Amino acid sequence: MEKAPESLWLKSAPSRSFAPLGEDVSVDVCVIGGGIAGVTASLLLQQAGKRVALLEAGTIGNGVTGSTTAHVTEALDTRWFKLIESFGKAGAKLAAQAQRAAIERIALFVEQDRLDCDFRLLPGYFYSESGSGEIEKEFAAAKALGMQVSLVPAAPLPFATQKAVRFDNQAQFRP
Ligand SMILES: Cc1cc2nc3c(=O)[nH]c(=O)nc-3n(C[C@H](O)[C@H](O)[C@H](O)COP(=O)(O)OP(=O)(O)OC[C@H]3O[C@@H](n4cnc5c(N)ncnc54)[C@H](O)[C@@H]3O)c2cc1C
Repeated sequence: MEKAPESLWLKSAPSRSFAPLGEDVSVDVCVIGGGIAGVTASLLLQQAGKRVALLEAGTIGNGVTGSTTAHVTEALDTRWFKLIESFGKAGAKLAAQAQRAAIERIALFVEQDRLDCDFRLLPGYFYSESGSGEIEKEFAAAKALGMQVSLVPAAPLPFATQKAVRFDNQAQFRP
């Protein structure tokens, strides 16, 4: 079996370990799992005035979070036109708003806490090399849901692509 590529983040980030919980503690909320979801939830709860214990079985950030490609994007793995088909425009719009709120929330964490994580806003592209009919459908769906999108002749890549959907104000960072 082919070996999975090693994660750059796991390879390059300084490792931080924490002592096991050695005694009973009394908290408002106990969060299980220190990936990006658990760390974010813990931080937001703490900022809201809650006493929080974050429990991690292994190492903080070494789960799936440690292997992400780090695109912070509205271009999801599931097509927006499929979400509209499944949940209606109002349902898909909730998902679109959540996605935008998440990007802005991450940007705010970076700004407020001056996180040194190479965060930057940049456009993201949904493209096809072979010209699947999904590009224009996805563009129409994303636009109908209020996203900042445009249909461009090709994605700016070092190989030829067909038309692409450009999503503005996406982001990347070093998790
Ligand atoms: C190759 C790859 C590329 C990806 N690229 C992107 C991308 O570009 N953009 C994007 O948005 N998403 C991407 N994703 C998805 C994204 O990485 C995940 O959705 C996200 O990291 C999940 O975070 P999490 O906190 O839910 O889970 P995790 O990071 O897996 O954290 C869960 C943690 O819980 C701990 N845990 C589990 N059970 C227990 C227990 N019983 N007690 C204590 N601790 C426990 C685990 O040890 C782990 O640390 C990618 C995923 C992969 C695999």
